[in-house]
Amino acid sequence: MSINGDSVKLLQELRDSSHDEIYWSFRIRGAEGRTLHFTLLPSSISTRGPAVSKDGINWHWLSDKTGFAADKFDYSFKPDEKDVYFSQCINYTERNLNLFLEKYKNNPALKIETLCKSEKGRRVELLRICENKKAPFKIYLSSRHHCNETMGTYAMEGIIETVLADSKDGKWLRKHCDFFMVPLVDKDGVEDGDQGKNRKPHDHNRDYIQQKYHSVKAITEEVPKWADGKPLFLLDLHCPWLRGGDDPLSAKVLEYTNRETNEYFYFVGQNISERLTKSLQRYGEILEKERKGTIPFKASNILPFGRSWNIAKNIKEGMQSCGNWGTTLPNAIFSSSTEIPFANAEGVVVDANSARDLGKDLAHSIRVYLESYHE
Ligand SMILES: [Zn+2]
Repeated sequence: MSINGDSVKLLQELRDSSHDEIYWSFRIRGAEGRTLHFTLLPSSISTRGPAVSKDGINWHWLSDKTGFAADKFDYSFKPDEKDVYFSQCINYTERNLNLFLEKYKNNPALKIETLCKSEKGRRVELLRICENKKAPFKIYLSSRHHCNETMGTYAMEGIIETVLADSKDGKWLRKHCDFFMVPLVDKDGVEDGDQGKNRKPHDHNRDYIQQKYHSVKAITEEVPKWADGKPLFLLDLHCPWLRGGDDPLSAKVLEYTNRETNEYFYFVGQNISERLTKSLQRYGEILEKERKGTIPFKASNILPFGRSWNIAKNIKEGMQSCGNWGTTLPNAIFSSSTEIPFANAEGVVVDANSARDLGKDLAHSIRVYLESYHE
């Protein structure tokens, strides 16, 4: 890092990741009234610029347009801006989770339990919603197997809000479903500000065979016991890479993302179970029809196994993701992971609010999917 007059150069700290992918976050104090020029090495700024915040909780993208430079930005601090946060993404840590849970502290339906202790002794939260012990369906949700992928946790907030709401969806979901939710799987990475993805020797979402991490081990032990052979709907929430241009799903995606950013919301297919490939397709069609939020989705956005990055070559011996582990469970009726873009979904802004709205659509669609589920 270097500071030369108004020019600030920042070098990313990779810690234990093998990949100079994306995550960074910092805070500037005492620059009120100045315009500073920031350069990041290696380049990793979203297509809407950096995420900016005054308090570390409420964030907005610097630019309301896409096509922002990937390696530099300028910021003019207002005379009263003494303290400003900048980040690769809209942050979400335990502090955010506690603020969210505070809203429901008098709601007995939501129980905050402990899945396990992390390697560094932190509590890995397990959120439970089970109003009906005889509920016919089991719903497993997780986010932050890759700790920098924050938008997944905002979507989980939207799902939980829907389940706890005094609405048709909320009432139906609480009556028919028992929820087991791990919002911050790599808790140490979330709190320490790691990237998490591509950790050495492998990250949390490649750990489902070796079970090196406490949280993964606890998930693989507890989920089958809790599910008790009942129909299980498993969804693991992720974000794709920050921006790119070399990995379009199809010519159609290329067209509507205008080659500039290939960012769109999608699900990841698998090649283990044909039955679950069909269930993902059915859920995708329901979500396409039912969704009300701004983040676009079509069932054709599902990335089938064998396409783009989702290929056999990228599955290393002895490594398995959460979504693929779920696929191997005999009682799974749905198992997949999602990729929610960090900043831009086909031209639509992805932020805390739009990701929560996506979560509401996901929850409503789970209800529609399960209402019409037959063995
Ligand atoms: Zn991920």
